[in-house]
Formats: sequence, C-alpha cells, structure tokens
Amino acid sequence: CSSMKMREICVDSTLDNTQQPSLFFKAKGTDRRPLLVGLHTWSFDRFNQIENMLPYAQKYNFNFQKKFGQNFLIDSHVLDKIIAAAGVTKDDVVLEIGPGFGTMTQYLAEAAREVIAVEIDKTLIPILQETLADYDNVTLINEDILKVDIGALVEEKNDGRPIKVVANLPYYITTPIIMGLFESHVPLENITVMVQKEVASRMQAGPGTKDYGALSLAVQFYAEPYIVANVPPNCFIPRPNVGSAVIRLTRWDNPPIQVKDEKFMFSLIRASFNQRRKTLQNSLVNGGVGVTKEQIVDALEQMGLSATIRGEALTLEQFAKLSNIIGKHL
Ligand code: SAM
Repeated sequence: CSSMKMREICVDSTLDNTQQPSLFFKAKGTDRRPLLVGLHTWSFDRFNQIENMLPYAQKYNFNFQKKFGQNFLIDSHVLDKIIAAAGVTKDDVVLEIGPGFGTMTQYLAEAAREVIAVEIDKTLIPILQETLADYDNVTLINEDILKVDIGALVEEKNDGRPIKVVANLPYYITTPIIMGLFESHVPLENITVMVQKEVASRMQAGPGTKDYGALSLAVQFYAEPYIVANVPPNCFIPRPNVGSAVIRLTRWDNPPIQVKDEKFMFSLIRASFNQRRKTLQNSLVNGGVGVTKEQIVDALEQMGLSATIRGEALTLEQFAKLSNIIGKHL
C-alpha cells in the first residue's frame, strides 16, 4: 500500500548533511539532470518528503506558484509534531487548508476519521488524486478557502460538532483565514497551523511587548495560543524568505471576558493600535470611533488608569471594560 511506503520513506530518509541532498536524478544512465527548472538554486539538508514529491512534480509538470504561497513542507519530524500538537484522533474531522502535494493530508488521513482538504490550485488536483488514491476518508475540494461555506461543511461532515483545522497555511492570507474561522463562529476545537514566525509571535504576544497588537487581542479573544515549534526555511521547498512557526489556537469553551458589544470593542482596539505611539485618548479621538476626549478620560478614571496611558499597555480585559463603559454613552 502506497501509504505505508510513504510512511517508511518519511521516517527513514533523513540524510546526514554530508550526503548529496540531490535535486537531480540519474535517469536511465543519463547524466544528472534537474527535475524542475530552478530547483538547482535550492539546497537541502533535510531530504525527507522531497523524495516523494519530485516524481509527481515531474510527471505533472508542476511549477510552484508564489502567488499561492506554495512553500511545501518536506520535513517529516515537523509533520509529526503538527499532528501531535493538534491532538488528532480517529474521532476527528479535520479541515486542511491547502494540501499541496498531499503530504500532510496523508498523515492526517491516517490519524483522523475524516479529512476535508481545500486546495485553490487546480494544477495540484490530479497530483492529489494520485497521492491520496489509497485513502477513502479524504474529501478534496478545489476552491478558494475564503469562498467555502465551512459551517455547512461541518454540518454535513460532523453533524455540526467541532472540527480541527490543521494546515501549513499560505502566508499571504493567514490573517483572513484565521479570523474568518473565528468570526464566522464555525464549530471548531483547535487550529494548528504553520504561519510566519513573526505572525505567530504577534498572536501570542501580551501587553507592553513590541509584538502586541490588534491581532494578538483578536486571536486571544477567541482562543488560547501556544507556539509549538519554530521551523527554519530549510524544512520547505522552495525555501521561504522568512522563518516559520507552528502555532496551536485552542478555542475557549467560554469567552475569557465579558463584553457587551464585540464589534465596538474591536473598533476601539484597531483605533488604538493604528497610532500605537500616541496616547490611548488621542488615538481614539483621532480614530473615527465616535467618542469624545471627555468620555475616554472619564472611562480611564473609572478604571483607575492614567489619562496618558497608551493602548499597547491595556489587556484584553481592560479593552472590554473600556468598551463597556464608553459604549453606554453612545
Ligand atoms: N500543505 C502543503 C504542504 O505543507 O506541503 C502545502 C502548503 S503551501 C504553504 C500552501 C497551500 O495552500 C498550497 O498548496 C496553495 O496552493 C494553497 N492555497 C493558497 N491559497 C489558497 C486558498 N485561498 N484556498 C485554498 N488553498 C490555497
């Protein structure tokens, strides 16, 4: 069975760095030749999944597309770590965003009850149909994830019970994907994803740090973030220009704070961080959220905070309180 073959290759093929991590192969006694145009510019000190990918890339004449954020994961240790961090079991329905060649999809198919894989790039579909042919628990959808009605899928595949989301995300749409999942209130248990390292740090950051901002608060309102691992560029093909990290976002069972008007609170948060060097009162007065300086000063006083405090010093709980106090006057 090819799934078994795939597993064997994954765990056994770590080359030591002195071996030739070749992107070339010797076909029928001919000279070494590149499998893909441009691949010779990449070198690898990890060789796991690439062995599996290159024959497919060649067979289907596949070209990596930068516009789709295609940096495929080639390190089986990282794949194992992602699956373990997500806690995928045979009870789970998993949504994978951007299966690429189906490498992670195979791991997920073996660990989960069912996998729904949504891939935008139609040139990957025939490859996926081949690499996933042995799995009868994978549903492949050729669509832009931002256009998929995920709530309806969860209803259909898991009777509306929470699913898990696992992905090596296309970095160009990390925030819309994650915030879309949270804001649309899709039933989900956790999201375990590879993202740009800097974005992972922003999601996990707390008040008073340089990474703390609207994204930290938005994510932490819905979930508890945990950075599982940092992943260097040489774990991908082609190598991204940035470092990456796996982050798990575990959805809160109950909201961590009580806020009367979520939308208004997030408009305050956005306005505060749009001008993060200014005091909170100046950012909010200039931020077009419809509040007066007096209302803000009064609210800060009620909260026992300095009138010159900056937004970056406030916790999620304090933003909620501020929003509840100011909201009363509007
Ligand atoms: N999962 C594969 C892996 O780890 O090797 C590929 C990950 S690659 C970083 C991102 C994948 O997302 C690519 O396959 C890309 O074509 C796909 N993708 C990009 N934008 C997408 C979108 N809007 N909807 C669905 N898939 C998308």
